[in-house]
Amino acid sequence: MLNQSSPTVAITRYDGASGAVAKAIELIDGLKRINKNDNVLIKPNVLWGAGGSKHIPRYGFITTSRVVEEIVITLREMGCRKISIGEGCTANRELGSDTLKGFAWSGLARVAKQYDVKLIDFNANPYVDAKVDGHSVEIARAALEADFIVDVPVLKTHSMTRVSLGMKNLKGCLSMRSKKKFHKVNLNEMIAFLNTVIRPGLTVIDGIYAMEGGPTHMGRAHRMNLIVAGTDPLSADMVGASILGIEPKTVGYMRRFAEISERSIEMDSIEVAGEKIEEVCKRLDWRLDYHSVFQAAGIEGITMQFPGEGFCTNCVTCADALIGCYCKDNPGTSLEGVELCFGPEVKAKKDSKKVILIGDCALRANKGDVGAVRVGGCPPKVASAYASVVMNTLPPNRAKMVLSVRLAKGILNKLGVYNERFPREFSYDLPEFDPRHFE
Ligand code: SF4
Repeated sequence: MLNQSSPTVAITRYDGASGAVAKAIELIDGLKRINKNDNVLIKPNVLWGAGGSKHIPRYGFITTSRVVEEIVITLREMGCRKISIGEGCTANRELGSDTLKGFAWSGLARVAKQYDVKLIDFNANPYVDAKVDGHSVEIARAALEADFIVDVPVLKTHSMTRVSLGMKNLKGCLSMRSKKKFHKVNLNEMIAFLNTVIRPGLTVIDGIYAMEGGPTHMGRAHRMNLIVAGTDPLSADMVGASILGIEPKTVGYMRRFAEISERSIEMDSIEVAGEKIEEVCKRLDWRLDYHSVFQAAGIEGITMQFPGEGFCTNCVTCADALIGCYCKDNPGTSLEGVELCFGPEVKAKKDSKKVILIGDCALRANKGDVGAVRVGGCPPKVASAYASVVMNTLPPNRAKMVLSVRLAKGILNKLGVYNERFPREFSYDLPEFDPRHFE
């Protein structure tokens, strides 16, 4: 018997056929406040949408189409007719990322077509000016006008905020400009206050896969086979964090939201139905250690300090693409004292021999470093940043050769005649990683 005064969160095991999503929703009576005439918005986490990105692993990086499909079926069975799926991907023209490609890549375009659900690209639709903790921001009108939001994040850790679950997933409802602003002002604080403006009626955490060292595919995905559902966003996130072995009170935005809403951040304030946290929990590292990425490729003598909270998603994708290509193109290279700097918080180390500053924020933070290589831009162009790193770390002839091959691969990738794979991707050839979850 559950205590009616405490928020209840359900955990169920996903086995591909058991209706784990519907069961989790049923355990918490998660749709009791919905009206069948409501405008229902499903907000998945599809933060990336590069065309030709079939080779980028989606496990633990983006929401599976399978979980969204089960939610749509459950809503349809309740008689809900007006259902939309809305997202605003990290838009990046250079890398070809946009939301419509993300919908296709995640399998959500297929779900939308099959069940006659509307797809909304927040980036291509109106934003409304709103105040979040006194700061002016732009929030997707579709999110503000929805009668009922079903928030469907991935079970993932996050290198800046420790976890990225339902509460943080709402940042995807902001314009690109406002997303950057969140990082500049105070990411944890702004996420906490955003959750006072957008209030999902149901959070369903997609834990078929979980990401370690998230939020992007540079981390390592794990098969978890879990679904977490709650009608209270804070409680659902507290359970999600606990499953990842992270104490909710160490997550800045959860702690802050609990403070401003005068709530407890202690786990004993929540009832858990279904599976027990201690039986499904897997402790994952939340921070991506860039040094270990270079080490795995056998590259010595290059470092990157952790960029901090101000390192926003477009710079994250630049760093991921740059480092991924460098490791693929130059395994076993021995360098000396090279330091890459991203974001507004990192000061280059005094003993670094070659400092490469990437992005306007890094340039501003290291104004006085006259000997540094400088690659501006907000976001910085991946091609220019990569060329600078290669030209400044390798002998000239080798650098020219590496850049020519990389250019050729890039063109062939874009033409769709070559799908490059990176070393970490081969670990996803195991049967536990099932691409049909994104079909
Ligand atoms: S330079 Fe990078 S970290 Fe700074 S605001 Fe631009 S994209 Fe974000």
